[in-house]
Amino acid sequence: MTIAPHFQFQDGVLHAENIPLTELAEQYGTPLYVYSRQALRDAWEAYRVAAQGRDVLVCYGMKANSNLAVLHEFHQLGAGFDIVSGGELARVEAAGGDPSKVVFSGVGKQAWEIRAALEAGVKCFNVESEGELERISAIASEMGRRAPISLRVNPDVDAHTHPYISTGLKENKFGIDIALAPAVYQRATQLPGLDIVGVDCHIGSQITEVSPYLDALGKLIDLIKALADQGIALKHLDLGGGIGIRYTDETPLTPSDLLSRVFQALDSNNLGHLQIVLEPGRSLVGNAGVLLTRVEYLKHNDTKNFAIVDAAMNDLLRPTLYDAWHGVETVRQRETSGPICRYDVVGPICESGDWLARDRELRIEPGDLLAIMSAGAYAFSMASQYNSRPRPAEIMVDGTTAHVVRQRETVESLFANEQTIPVRPA
Ligand SMILES: *Cc1c(COP(=O)(O)O)cnc(C)c1O
Repeated sequence: MTIAPHFQFQDGVLHAENIPLTELAEQYGTPLYVYSRQALRDAWEAYRVAAQGRDVLVCYGMKANSNLAVLHEFHQLGAGFDIVSGGELARVEAAGGDPSKVVFSGVGKQAWEIRAALEAGVKCFNVESEGELERISAIASEMGRRAPISLRVNPDVDAHTHPYISTGLKENKFGIDIALAPAVYQRATQLPGLDIVGVDCHIGSQITEVSPYLDALGKLIDLIKALADQGIALKHLDLGGGIGIRYTDETPLTPSDLLSRVFQALDSNNLGHLQIVLEPGRSLVGNAGVLLTRVEYLKHNDTKNFAIVDAAMNDLLRPTLYDAWHGVETVRQRETSGPICRYDVVGPICESGDWLARDRELRIEPGDLLAIMSAGAYAFSMASQYNSRPRPAEIMVDGTTAHVVRQRETVESLFANEQTIPVRPA
């Protein structure tokens, strides 16, 4: 058994749904991202069931994986989208998504992005500073519109996660200090181009317990009541994303764990009428993908064994960026009794930080295929072309059918937008 239900061994070979990964590697080459459509649908279903038929809008935090096929699938299932840039808005539109279900997050929204979002008719801007509030009001007024806004407040709670992905503490750049929020809401009522519709927070990522959410929720409920006393009535409460996944042995909270407690808290505070917005990214896609890579060389020195593979930190940045742990499976389990060795799985890039996994017991030979597990979230979307490495293709498997949802980049495309300048005269 692997941790990902739709990536399991059949007859000793790891499959994506019903296709052997060996076949996909043959046909499309490596490194290769492979996604399971059913895994996306199952992850979505957990949120749908957790909503218990109440007014919950799930806005997929699309920076986790913004491939158009992923967006299209979630749109078909009824999702909205949490975007953080004008580029992401364009992707939503290209995938046929519904802008009226889009919330726009991020601390640095530029004027063109605000304009594009107003033009498209997004559901809400999650505003992170007073400066942004003023800019949005000015642009909306200029366009003869009113911009729907929430304040993203910083509730100062500890999400108990990696410091780089913890966002709800006072020292983080995100959100507006919750103590200052009532005054900023007052300021918003005075600006002509704004329509106050909600409140928002997002406290971090890869959260495994429900308690940080409940801490934040309690503070938001107090704020909502204080605002009501000032005559500011909200329509929705956005609790952000952040639900974690199992990479190794975690048992993260489920959407039901979260939403049942949220409904309870709201109902007991007479706030049951509020629409709930969630912005899950990782928990919808993380275990719906693997990164397939081939062993190029095995290298041994006094203290270490290295499996040098054809995928690298440019394809999957999380290990070196967050010290993240990804499972590694040998795609074809060997019956031989060859030696099991403890390897660091590393790429070809000229950086010591270029590793994908460390100290893993593997029975492998050059030419073998490995699957780096849990590579559906913050994997391709963070990929770069560092070392002039074309980014991998992405495949979506649906039962026994494989769809290419992004072509492998060509070497020529790496420098297609570049040009040399004229020779300087002697
Ligand atoms: C990244 C992000 C999300 C998604 O977070 P996950 O941990 O992937 O669920 C949601 N909302 C905001 C504002 C984000 O920045």
